[in-house]
Amino acid sequence: MAGHWVKRYDWGRSSSFSAYYTNKLANLNANSSFTSGFIKPNAMCPVCGELVFYYQNKHGSRVYFDELGPPWPKHECMDNTDSISSPRTAKKIVLRYPTLRSANDCLEIASCRSHIYHDPEFEFAKRYRSKPWTCCKVEKRIESAGTTFLILTSVEKNRRFMYLEAKKIPASVVADEIIFYNRGVVEYFDFQKLKQLEFQVTRLSSAIAFVRRLVCQTD
Ligand SMILES: [Zn+2]
Repeated sequence: MAGHWVKRYDWGRSSSFSAYYTNKLANLNANSSFTSGFIKPNAMCPVCGELVFYYQNKHGSRVYFDELGPPWPKHECMDNTDSISSPRTAKKIVLRYPTLRSANDCLEIASCRSHIYHDPEFEFAKRYRSKPWTCCKVEKRIESAGTTFLILTSVEKNRRFMYLEAKKIPASVVADEIIFYNRGVVEYFDFQKLKQLEFQVTRLSSAIAFVRRLVCQTD
């Protein structure tokens, strides 16, 4: 397809050294998307066979993404089609929504990518003219005196803890939800409504700041 972004790792031909890492990445279902470094692509495009991030709600509506998080780039084969086909299975089974990788897999993918000089964060920024937002897993949601607190861990880097608070956080944002944070804004994909949603938050600077806020709330 003319102008189609080449997303598979095609550098394996250059040497057996890079082939080793390229194969390893393929075995881990990691393509050249930034997101696949920490979230498992859960389907294959039925048109081009590319690994994609796929959501399906209980009514059978479907959406395919090249990357998750703002700007939520849809997979172009499956964008603007009226009748969206079923995905092909990526290795095993098609899950109805993408899931996080283990910490070990994230490290292994990062290591393989560095060996073949692939920097998907740089590629993402070049392609979408914005840096990827910080992907986080919700560890805990706490309601206290009309305020909601979220304890998060960032997933793609060092798994550091982050603490957010807001007056109003959608009820679907619960433990294990994958969200994207940037400068006081959270975006996430509500896979029942099948669209990305956004809400404003205040980020607390540390665990101590979080505990202080929690104590003040309950006083
Ligand atoms: Zn495709």
